[in-house]
Amino acid sequence: MVPATAEGPSVGRGGHVNVASTSEVVASRLEDQLTTVIRGGRLLDARAHRADAADILIDGDTIREVGAPGLTAPSDATVVDARGKLLHPGLINAHTHAHGNLAKGTGDRWTLELLLTAGPWISGGRSLADAHLSATLGAVEMVLKGCTASYDLPLEWPAPTPEGLDAVARGYAAVGMRAVVAPMVADRTFFEAIPGLLEIIPTSLHRDVEKLRLAPWKTSLDNMRRTLAGWTHDRDRIRPAVAPTIPHHCSDEFIRGCVELAREHDVGLHTHVAESKVQAIVGLKRYGKTLTAHLEDLGVLGPRFTAAHGVWLDPDDMKRLGDAGASVAHNPGSNMRLGNGLADMRAMLERRVNVGIGTDGASCSDNLNMYEAMRLASFVSKAQRPDVERWVTTDEVLLAATEGSAQALGFEGKLGRLAPGYKADIVFVDLGHINWMPLNDPTNQLVHIEDGSGVTHVMIGGRMIVQDRRLMTVDVAALARETEGARERLARVNVPGKELAEKLAMVVGRFCPGLAHTPYHVARYIGGV
Ligand SMILES: [Zn+2]
Repeated sequence: MVPATAEGPSVGRGGHVNVASTSEVVASRLEDQLTTVIRGGRLLDARAHRADAADILIDGDTIREVGAPGLTAPSDATVVDARGKLLHPGLINAHTHAHGNLAKGTGDRWTLELLLTAGPWISGGRSLADAHLSATLGAVEMVLKGCTASYDLPLEWPAPTPEGLDAVARGYAAVGMRAVVAPMVADRTFFEAIPGLLEIIPTSLHRDVEKLRLAPWKTSLDNMRRTLAGWTHDRDRIRPAVAPTIPHHCSDEFIRGCVELAREHDVGLHTHVAESKVQAIVGLKRYGKTLTAHLEDLGVLGPRFTAAHGVWLDPDDMKRLGDAGASVAHNPGSNMRLGNGLADMRAMLERRVNVGIGTDGASCSDNLNMYEAMRLASFVSKAQRPDVERWVTTDEVLLAATEGSAQALGFEGKLGRLAPGYKADIVFVDLGHINWMPLNDPTNQLVHIEDGSGVTHVMIGGRMIVQDRRLMTVDVAALARETEGARERLARVNVPGKELAEKLAMVVGRFCPGLAHTPYHVARYIGGV
């Protein structure tokens, strides 16, 4: 039996139930900045592992008050009936890649290095329409699975453009989701970035590898500068940032330019750091120090900096990040899927690193399910050591996926909590769903059991984006048709790219594991650290 929950929240105005469809409510809210009151739900308190009855009063897109049932609200307030629902802050994905969504499910036994080798194939031949479509696909998946904001690093080859980034931003805007859009940029290809790799690639392939060249760093920087100067989206919804993608894929001048640009425009910086052991070893070889120490020298570290992954950070690196007030986007699913290892969230927290949780892109995670990312973050910590007192707890994981990720995105104080002054980004979970029978501990169950299938409604900025499990903003059937058209066309145009990637994979698949088998302490010795 499913009691009150079977009704689902109904929306009414001035105390009347079910008088308006969600789209009408949305339209009128945009006009009038109406007040909304959510009544009858149970509000999750992650730290206390409790979910007590509470009402939420919302003014426009912001929570004005949270109080006991029967909270006073203006007589013309729109009423959302949340009986039988658990209410939790929208989950925030601290790291993903818009372009990956059209490539989901492509590979299986791929290391990070084999994924990077496949990049020109699986992300090749993309038009602006494809960029928009791929971003839309990701946003749709995320909101349906309880995620309301993401830090997105889209790829555009050979350089980012204002039009390309706008296409991604418009994808998020169409769905109604928040995002930080940071183009992933580099001025060295993967093949140029790994010392010794180009030399062992057969000469018959050199001309093809040459064609993968990226734009000179000044071009990428100029394009990003134009993008930041001309950004038209509401920065409370979708804001830009800068992402020199991997330290050794970027010349030092380029990284310094990115730091300067981010500072000029007061936006975030985001970089993959020590994701694979190959990267960590290459960093030691190239710079004679760890990648994090190198980034510190270049002025990258600071409160607006987010390092993705951090699997191979050593304790000094974590201290550098923690002392600088920086964040790590912890992507446990991707780290395992690509064979990179298990990042140590406890060790990061002990050194005051702000930790957010991410899924990474759909070509390496492969779903964008933040519930699963939380579950894996918890499990990975427990798999790392037998000392239970150093295992991360479910409340630490949930706080990382909400407040921690919000800080990584630069939305601290605005997102990640259901409290006065915060944006009304609220997920409704059906307590009548099998995931919640019985309800013993809401924090443990949200992190260890919920998988997105219990999500019924998702509100972002006071607007219902998902209602009764249905997306209110984008026609999913039309999206499916458009996606199939793109898939078919891209498969056709990327045939040569696939052939090249398969040939290169034979070389990369032998060379990089060799590097990864280098004992880390030996690499430090060789690097003079
Ligand atoms: Zn990534």
